[in-house]
Amino acid sequence: MEKVRRKISAAALQAGRDPAAIRMLMVSKTQPLVRIEEAYQEGQRLFAENRIQEWRAKAPQLPEDCEWHFIGRIQLNKVKYLDRSMALIHSLDRFELLRELERQGRQQDYTWTALIQVNIADDSAKAGLATQEVKDFLEILPDYPHVRVTGLMTIGRWGASEKDARQVFRELRLRREAWQKQAPPGIFLRELSMGMSADYEIAVKEGASIVRIGREIFEGLD
Ligand SMILES: *Cc1c(COP(=O)(O)O)cnc(C)c1O
Repeated sequence: MEKVRRKISAAALQAGRDPAAIRMLMVSKTQPLVRIEEAYQEGQRLFAENRIQEWRAKAPQLPEDCEWHFIGRIQLNKVKYLDRSMALIHSLDRFELLRELERQGRQQDYTWTALIQVNIADDSAKAGLATQEVKDFLEILPDYPHVRVTGLMTIGRWGASEKDARQVFRELRLRREAWQKQAPPGIFLRELSMGMSADYEIAVKEGASIVRIGREIFEGLD
Protein backbone atom coordinates (compact mmCIF):
# COMPACT_ATOMS: atom_id res chain seq x y z
CA MET A 1 0.00 0.00 0.00
CA GLU A 2 2.85 2.35 0.79
CA LYS A 3 4.31 1.68 -2.62
CA VAL A 4 1.03 2.59 -4.30
CA ARG A 5 0.88 5.77 -2.26
CA ARG A 6 4.38 6.68 -3.33
CA LYS A 7 3.55 6.08 -6.97
CA ILE A 8 0.47 8.29 -6.67
CA SER A 9 2.56 11.07 -5.13
CA ALA A 10 5.25 10.75 -7.77
CA ALA A 11 2.70 10.88 -10.60
CA ALA A 12 1.04 13.92 -9.02
CA LEU A 13 4.33 15.77 -8.64
CA GLN A 14 5.32 14.97 -12.21
CA ALA A 15 2.09 16.59 -13.35
CA GLY A 16 2.60 19.58 -11.06
CA ARG A 17 -0.26 18.53 -8.80
CA ASP A 18 -0.47 18.45 -5.02
CA PRO A 19 -0.40 14.78 -3.94
CA ALA A 20 -2.73 15.68 -1.06
CA ALA A 21 -5.45 16.41 -3.61
CA ILE A 22 -5.73 12.74 -4.51
CA ARG A 23 -7.58 10.22 -2.37
CA MET A 24 -6.77 6.55 -2.65
CA LEU A 25 -9.69 4.18 -2.24
CA MET A 26 -8.78 0.69 -1.28
CA VAL A 27 -11.11 -1.57 -3.23
CA SER A 28 -11.90 -4.16 -0.60
CA LYS A 29 -14.49 -6.11 -2.60
CA THR A 30 -14.01 -9.88 -2.24
CA GLN A 31 -11.34 -9.31 0.44
CA PRO A 32 -11.76 -10.93 3.85
CA LEU A 33 -12.05 -8.79 6.96
CA VAL A 34 -8.51 -9.55 8.12
CA ARG A 35 -7.04 -7.92 5.02
CA ILE A 36 -9.16 -4.84 5.53
CA GLU A 37 -8.22 -4.72 9.21
CA GLU A 38 -4.54 -4.89 8.29
CA ALA A 39 -4.96 -1.97 5.96
CA TYR A 40 -6.83 -0.10 8.67
CA GLN A 41 -3.93 -0.68 11.04
CA GLU A 42 -1.64 0.83 8.43
CA GLY A 43 -3.81 3.93 8.41
CA GLN A 44 -6.12 3.32 5.46
CA ARG A 45 -9.67 4.64 6.04
CA LEU A 46 -11.24 4.76 2.57
CA PHE A 47 -12.70 1.50 1.31
CA ALA A 48 -14.83 0.60 -1.68
CA GLU A 49 -17.25 -2.25 -2.24
CA ASN A 50 -19.25 -3.23 -5.30
CA ARG A 51 -21.96 -5.46 -3.84
CA ILE A 52 -24.46 -4.15 -1.35
CA GLN A 53 -24.91 -7.43 0.54
CA GLU A 54 -21.17 -7.84 0.93
CA TRP A 55 -20.82 -4.30 2.23
CA ARG A 56 -23.70 -4.82 4.67
CA ALA A 57 -21.99 -7.93 6.03
CA LYS A 58 -18.55 -6.37 6.40
CA ALA A 59 -19.03 -2.77 7.44
CA PRO A 60 -20.52 -3.34 10.91
CA GLN A 61 -17.53 -5.53 11.81
CA LEU A 62 -15.01 -2.80 11.10
CA PRO A 63 -14.21 0.41 12.96
CA GLU A 64 -16.73 3.20 12.61
CA ASP A 65 -14.29 5.65 11.14
CA CYS A 66 -13.91 3.61 7.97
CA GLU A 67 -15.31 5.62 5.07
CA TRP A 68 -17.27 3.48 2.61
CA HIS A 69 -17.67 4.12 -1.08
CA PHE A 70 -19.77 2.19 -3.54
CA ILE A 71 -18.38 1.42 -7.00
CA GLY A 72 -20.68 -1.23 -8.48
CA ARG A 73 -23.89 -1.35 -10.42
CA ILE A 74 -26.83 -0.89 -8.05
CA GLN A 75 -30.01 -2.85 -8.63
CA LEU A 76 -33.03 -0.72 -7.92
CA ASN A 77 -34.46 -3.17 -5.39
CA LYS A 78 -31.20 -2.97 -3.37
CA VAL A 79 -31.21 0.79 -2.87
CA LYS A 80 -33.24 0.35 0.30
CA TYR A 81 -30.28 -1.44 1.89
CA LEU A 82 -28.07 1.61 1.54
CA ASP A 83 -27.90 3.98 4.47
CA ARG A 84 -26.08 7.10 5.60
CA SER A 85 -22.91 5.18 6.35
CA MET A 86 -22.33 5.01 2.59
CA ALA A 87 -20.24 8.13 2.05
CA LEU A 88 -20.08 8.25 -1.73
CA ILE A 89 -21.81 6.38 -4.52
CA HIS A 90 -19.56 6.35 -7.60
CA SER A 91 -22.00 4.54 -9.83
CA LEU A 92 -24.97 6.79 -10.51
CA ASP A 93 -25.37 5.45 -14.01
CA ARG A 94 -29.01 5.83 -15.02
CA PHE A 95 -32.13 7.84 -14.54
CA GLU A 96 -34.05 5.07 -12.77
CA LEU A 97 -31.35 4.89 -10.11
CA LEU A 98 -31.52 8.65 -9.57
CA ARG A 99 -35.27 8.37 -9.07
CA GLU A 100 -34.95 5.47 -6.62
CA LEU A 101 -32.19 7.18 -4.63
CA GLU A 102 -34.41 10.24 -4.35
CA ARG A 103 -37.28 8.12 -3.08
CA GLN A 104 -35.16 6.31 -0.49
CA GLY A 105 -33.39 9.52 0.49
CA ARG A 106 -36.72 11.14 1.21
CA GLN A 107 -37.78 8.15 3.32
CA GLN A 108 -34.53 8.09 5.28
CA ASP A 109 -34.38 11.89 5.47
CA TYR A 110 -30.91 11.74 4.01
CA THR A 111 -29.14 13.27 1.02
CA TRP A 112 -26.85 10.87 -0.83
CA THR A 113 -23.59 12.06 -2.30
CA ALA A 114 -22.94 10.57 -5.71
CA LEU A 115 -20.80 10.72 -8.83
CA ILE A 116 -22.21 10.31 -12.29
CA GLN A 117 -20.62 7.31 -13.97
CA VAL A 118 -19.82 8.16 -17.57
CA ASN A 119 -19.02 5.56 -20.17
CA ILE A 120 -16.30 7.64 -21.79
CA ALA A 121 -14.62 4.61 -23.31
CA ASP A 122 -18.00 3.95 -24.98
CA ASP A 123 -17.69 0.29 -24.12
CA SER A 124 -21.00 -1.56 -24.48
CA ALA A 125 -19.97 -3.93 -21.68
CA LYS A 126 -19.72 -1.05 -19.23
CA ALA A 127 -22.28 0.82 -17.24
CA GLY A 128 -22.55 4.56 -17.29
CA LEU A 129 -24.27 7.37 -19.12
CA ALA A 130 -23.18 7.98 -22.66
CA THR A 131 -21.38 11.30 -22.97
CA GLN A 132 -24.29 12.77 -24.97
CA GLU A 133 -26.66 12.04 -22.07
CA VAL A 134 -24.78 13.83 -19.32
CA LYS A 135 -25.92 17.37 -20.03
CA ASP A 136 -29.62 16.47 -19.80
CA PHE A 137 -28.98 14.41 -16.69
CA LEU A 138 -27.33 17.39 -14.99
CA GLU A 139 -30.28 19.57 -15.89
CA ILE A 140 -32.83 17.44 -14.06
CA LEU A 141 -30.77 17.10 -10.87
CA PRO A 142 -32.46 20.05 -9.11
CA ASP A 143 -35.67 17.98 -9.15
CA TYR A 144 -33.91 15.34 -7.01
CA PRO A 145 -32.82 17.21 -3.88
CA HIS A 146 -31.90 14.05 -1.94
CA VAL A 147 -29.09 13.31 -4.36
CA ARG A 148 -26.10 15.63 -4.33
CA VAL A 149 -23.81 15.08 -7.32
CA THR A 150 -20.22 16.11 -6.64
CA GLY A 151 -18.39 14.82 -9.69
CA LEU A 152 -17.83 12.17 -12.30
CA MET A 153 -16.51 8.64 -12.43
CA THR A 154 -15.26 6.54 -15.30
CA ILE A 155 -13.62 3.20 -15.92
CA GLY A 156 -10.75 3.11 -18.38
CA ARG A 157 -10.69 0.87 -21.39
CA TRP A 158 -9.73 -2.70 -20.53
CA GLY A 159 -6.24 -3.58 -21.72
CA ALA A 160 -5.76 -0.13 -23.23
CA SER A 161 -2.35 1.18 -24.20
CA GLU A 162 -1.03 4.07 -22.15
CA LYS A 163 -2.01 6.43 -24.93
CA ASP A 164 -5.61 5.18 -25.06
CA ALA A 165 -5.94 5.21 -21.28
CA ARG A 166 -4.69 8.77 -21.20
CA GLN A 167 -7.15 9.80 -23.86
CA VAL A 168 -10.15 8.45 -21.91
CA PHE A 169 -9.14 10.23 -18.70
CA ARG A 170 -8.28 13.44 -20.49
CA GLU A 171 -11.62 13.43 -22.20
CA LEU A 172 -13.45 13.11 -18.89
CA ARG A 173 -11.45 16.01 -17.46
CA LEU A 174 -12.11 18.24 -20.47
CA ARG A 175 -15.78 17.37 -20.61
CA ARG A 176 -16.08 18.05 -16.91
CA GLU A 177 -15.08 21.66 -17.60
CA ALA A 178 -17.70 21.99 -20.31
CA TRP A 179 -20.43 20.30 -18.26
CA GLN A 180 -19.61 22.41 -15.22
CA LYS A 181 -20.29 25.54 -17.26
CA GLN A 182 -23.68 24.21 -18.34
CA ALA A 183 -24.69 22.72 -14.99
CA PRO A 184 -27.53 24.23 -12.95
CA PRO A 185 -26.47 26.51 -10.10
CA GLY A 186 -25.31 24.71 -6.96
CA ILE A 187 -23.84 21.71 -8.76
CA PHE A 188 -20.09 21.44 -8.48
CA LEU A 189 -18.32 18.66 -10.33
CA ARG A 190 -15.29 18.63 -8.06
CA GLU A 191 -14.44 14.96 -8.04
CA LEU A 192 -12.98 12.89 -10.84
CA SER A 193 -12.95 9.23 -9.82
CA MET A 194 -10.74 7.50 -12.35
CA GLY A 195 -7.84 5.06 -12.37
CA MET A 196 -7.52 1.47 -11.14
CA SER A 197 -4.50 -0.78 -10.67
CA ALA A 198 -3.75 -0.89 -14.38
CA ASP A 199 -3.90 2.83 -15.07
CA TYR A 200 -4.01 4.99 -11.93
CA GLU A 201 -0.73 6.81 -12.53
CA ILE A 202 -2.03 7.98 -15.88
CA ALA A 203 -5.33 8.99 -14.27
CA VAL A 204 -3.51 11.01 -11.62
CA LYS A 205 -1.56 12.85 -14.30
CA GLU A 206 -4.86 13.60 -16.04
CA GLY A 207 -6.52 15.05 -12.97
CA ALA A 208 -8.05 12.22 -10.93
CA SER A 209 -9.12 13.27 -7.43
CA ILE A 210 -9.96 9.70 -6.40
CA VAL A 211 -8.25 6.51 -7.57
CA ARG A 212 -9.70 3.06 -6.89
CA ILE A 213 -7.08 0.40 -6.26
CA GLY A 214 -7.66 -3.28 -5.58
CA ARG A 215 -5.33 -5.79 -7.16
CA GLU A 216 -2.09 -3.90 -6.87
CA ILE A 217 -2.55 -3.63 -3.13
CA PHE A 218 -3.82 -7.13 -2.51
CA GLU A 219 -1.94 -9.28 -4.92
CA GLY A 220 1.26 -8.65 -3.06
CA LEU A 221 2.63 -6.57 -5.87
CA ASP A 222 3.47 -3.97 -3.32
C1 LIG B 1 -12.73 -3.76 -8.96
C2 LIG B 1 -12.82 -2.33 -9.32
C3 LIG B 1 -11.73 -1.48 -9.14
C4 LIG B 1 -10.36 -1.97 -8.70
O1 LIG B 1 -9.74 -2.62 -9.75
P1 LIG B 1 -8.25 -3.22 -9.61
O2 LIG B 1 -7.89 -3.57 -11.00
O3 LIG B 1 -8.39 -4.40 -8.70
O4 LIG B 1 -7.41 -2.17 -9.02
C5 LIG B 1 -11.91 -0.14 -9.44
N1 LIG B 1 -13.08 0.35 -9.89
C6 LIG B 1 -14.15 -0.44 -10.09
C7 LIG B 1 -15.40 0.15 -10.58
C8 LIG B 1 -14.05 -1.80 -9.81
O5 LIG B 1 -15.11 -2.59 -10.01
